Amino acid sequence: MKGKHADAVLLAKHPLRWRSLPISIKTGIIQNLRTVADTRSRIEGDALVAPMPHVQVLDTALVAQIGGGCVHGRTTPIRTKGGWHFVAQLAAPTILYSTREELRAILVHEFAHCFYFIREMVLASDNGRRMIDRTPAGGSFRTEDEDRATLEKPSDWFGSADADGFAYWDSPLLRNTRAPDGTRLLRNHTPAEV
Ligand SMILES: [Zn+2]
Repeated sequence: MKGKHADAVLLAKHPLRWRSLPISIKTGIIQNLRTVADTRSRIEGDALVAPMPHVQVLDTALVAQIGGGCVHGRTTPIRTKGGWHFVAQLAAPTILYSTREELRAILVHEFAHCFYFIREMVLASDNGRRMIDRTPAGGSFRTEDEDRATLEKPSDWFGSADADGFAYWDSPLLRNTRAPDGTRLLRNHTPAEV
């Protein structure tokens, strides 16, 4: 990947985990990074703001703290030289098994969380507070209300198709039927993160 968004989609490889994965899974993850970058660029091209948050692709599955269901993505603060940033993290099964439509819906959903937390952080620093009040506990939310409370209004940020088709909690686009098999497959090789 070249250009100004060269580091916008990165694979976060854990040295031991990555080594334990079969070559077919590693190849699949690497090949699909370009699709993730392309999807992010398309969302950005249609959006009312730019740039979109960065994306980290994980080399592991994510499971929910409660219920153990598979989690497609989450919003996470990461520290870089420039300070704190919110990134959208995608679980490995998400990039291995999602259709383009599902991937786009998941990214838009996570970006809406990123924008919420970025805005909260700006407000907190304007008010002299050093902490934001609401962080994604364990990276995922337990109820739809919790999830919605930390999403920006899609039409304030995204293109009309992404805003109109925004995938909330119960959207079939967030219920990828192949993801549980993918999660099981990944977990045969490396423990999932909770
Ligand atoms: Zn959410």
